[in-house]
Amino acid sequence: MWENQYGKKDIKSMTLPQLQEELAAMGEKSFRAGQLFQWMHQKLVRDYDSMTNLPGELRGRLAEGYACSCLRQVRVQESRVDGTKKFLFALEDGHVVESVWMRYRHGNSVCVSSQVGCRMGCRFCASTLGGLVRGLLPGEMLDQIYAISLLTGERVSNVVVMGTGEPLDNYDSLLQFLRILTDEKGLHISARNITVSTCGLVPEMRRLAEEKLPITLALSLHAATDEKRRSLMPVANRYSIAQLMEACGYYFARTGRRITFEYSLVGGVNDTREDARLLAGLAGPLNCHVNLIPVNPVREREYVQSDAGRIQAFKNLLEKNGINVTIRREMGRDIDGACGQLRRSYMQEE
Ligand code: SAH
Repeated sequence: MWENQYGKKDIKSMTLPQLQEELAAMGEKSFRAGQLFQWMHQKLVRDYDSMTNLPGELRGRLAEGYACSCLRQVRVQESRVDGTKKFLFALEDGHVVESVWMRYRHGNSVCVSSQVGCRMGCRFCASTLGGLVRGLLPGEMLDQIYAISLLTGERVSNVVVMGTGEPLDNYDSLLQFLRILTDEKGLHISARNITVSTCGLVPEMRRLAEEKLPITLALSLHAATDEKRRSLMPVANRYSIAQLMEACGYYFARTGRRITFEYSLVGGVNDTREDARLLAGLAGPLNCHVNLIPVNPVREREYVQSDAGRIQAFKNLLEKNGINVTIRREMGRDIDGACGQLRRSYMQEE
């Protein structure tokens, strides 16, 4: 059972069957669980008093006995370039997380954080600078989407777990989040419209392959040799690229879902023709999609973006090798778009 920082059970983190059990233990009829689930996860109602078909006495007991992972907006930044909005939310214990809302032609997308901070230590990333504070509850991940839906007044059709944190380092919570998010009695986001991004925790990638959830897995590769990868990502000391490729093959075999490789281009570090050639060698056999991201400069780090010509040449070389490749549009570049930068600048002010 999911509990918050103060030992209270979190009601938003329960699946419908768990909620049924919980209410049964309280002596309630089982259809009440369905009503409550729908209020929280479909109608996105955040206070018990608005749940008008629940008896007042039950509403009181719920308010009394449970936490509900309702996030509070502390800041929002809107990009003047593309309308992307970056939200900073406070959790019940006062920690803050950031989430991003992006409008695309194919629908609205929310980028969700999975942890407060991160312990993976990637050299170019701002999220990991202060280390890991804690993993988020399933309800806290869900409520980033619910709160944004309410604040923008728009439907969310795609979810990417690419905000702060390593989702597979908070595995059980992530899974519970995915189960509730895809539940037809909840927001019912199609698993095909959900992407989970990982820095490459091999055992958890394999475990995820077994879950029978056809979500897209994105692997943050960022280098095509172990040596170079280790210089950018400490996690590369735990798992080799060969092990990663095997895990990707396994994921594809089990789920039929094509893997995405994310590759942040860092000027003078991983953007040569040789890098592109080696990357093509990895992506080709797995039939992966490659997403090139011009690295987003972080104040505390010395890394710079590759210039536009290099990026284009890198892309061309991959394409010539038959690789399906896109250059990620940089959304919200004018609003501290890179992972963890909004939270970081907020904490430095406080
Ligand atoms: N921990 C997960 C998900 C969060 S990071 C992961 O590693 O995949 C989401 C993506 O943004 C990852 O590919 C990450 O490597 C990348 N990223 C982080 N900081 C970045 C930066 N400053 N510029 C470009 N990409 C960055």
